Amino acid sequence: MTTKRACVIGWPAKHSRSPKLHGYWIEKYGLDGDYRIEEVTTDDFPAFIMNLAGHGYVGCNITMPHKDAAFQLSVPDDRAKGVGASNTLYFDNGVLRSTNTDVEGAMGALDQASPGWDKHTKSAVIMGAGGACRAVIYGLIERGIETIHVANRTYEKAVDMQTRFGDRVKPAHWDDLPKLLAGAKLLINTTSLGMKGQPPLEVDISGLAPDAVVCDIIYVPLPTPLLADAKARGFKTANGLDMLLHQAVSGFELWFGKRPEVTRELFDLLAADIAKA
Ligand code: NAP
Repeated sequence: MTTKRACVIGWPAKHSRSPKLHGYWIEKYGLDGDYRIEEVTTDDFPAFIMNLAGHGYVGCNITMPHKDAAFQLSVPDDRAKGVGASNTLYFDNGVLRSTNTDVEGAMGALDQASPGWDKHTKSAVIMGAGGACRAVIYGLIERGIETIHVANRTYEKAVDMQTRFGDRVKPAHWDDLPKLLAGAKLLINTTSLGMKGQPPLEVDISGLAPDAVVCDIIYVPLPTPLLADAKARGFKTANGLDMLLHQAVSGFELWFGKRPEVTRELFDLLAADIAKA
């Protein structure tokens, strides 16, 4: 039997934690597999992807800045089409298909933080309107959330979210946040604010509903200041590392034929690595 190989393609990508994550599962399940990093420039990306099998890969993850190009160069499923970007590629009878597993990553993190959250949540507030926001909105709509407020520094990009996803999405200015957060039951940060090396995220969450869930998709540092604040106030918290772990599950299954489990041991392994960053 030949070794099945997968990779993460990005530029830069050398800090990706995906090899550690997939390597853990390959070892745990005793599979003849391999997962590595491929740093590929934007110029070289199309040729690399069109010869993915020639490079020896059964599939790959895609990270910045190639998710939109990966979408164009593969046959996307409904999720990837909805989000307009692909982060997981795989072969199906020789056809290069793609999906967007950030959707299940974000929803998996919320499910883990607060099982059944979607049964009693009618509206959500999202901060940010970039690529990750699109995956979060897609997931929230799939789960039946009726109203999704999107507040962004650049208001026009919040409007773009409404154009893409329809009237359930309510675009908002950043200054609208205090009003939107009063009594809110679900708050999700999809900006890069609060990430190591980025400006802080300054938001007052004291007015959220007492049973609110706060999610931050950033995972360096862990916890982010937003989640530390939320936890100290007694809110449930969903973190970006759980999103990363849950988004990896389907890709691993598609490439290696085994659906892996997200466990505390795996979380701790990656968290220890992040703590060194
Ligand atoms: P992106 O497309 O570049 O979007 C960045 C967002 O952050 C935009 O809404 C941008 O607002 C906002 N922003 C950046 N700097 C800001 C500032 N100084 N003030 C106010 N808003 C600011 O990035 P992305 O792909 O959506 O990723 C966003 C974050 O999510 C990154 O930190 C990424 O690492 C993380 N992420 C995590 C996972 C995971 O698995 N946990 C998956 C994907 C992404 P403007 O529109 O005004 O520029």
